[in-house]
Amino acid sequence: MAPTLRTPSERTCERCGRVEVWEESTGTWRLAVDESGDPQAVGSPYCIHEWDINGSFAPFEGDAAEA
Ligand SMILES: [Zn+2]
Repeated sequence: MAPTLRTPSERTCERCGRVEVWEESTGTWRLAVDESGDPQAVGSPYCIHEWDINGSFAPFEGDAAEA
């Protein structure tokens, strides 16, 4: 496979569906928002997040999901 190691820039919780993105400027994860600034998926604040980061995640599924 490709030898290039890519730093994950997005992670999704497999339990509650929360989506966060990596913000390099602050070095922290923050809640992902769409182009209009609305949270994509807040998830549950009580969830023990299980982040799906395995290097094969898709960046975004596109705009077709929420019609
Ligand atoms: Zn969660």
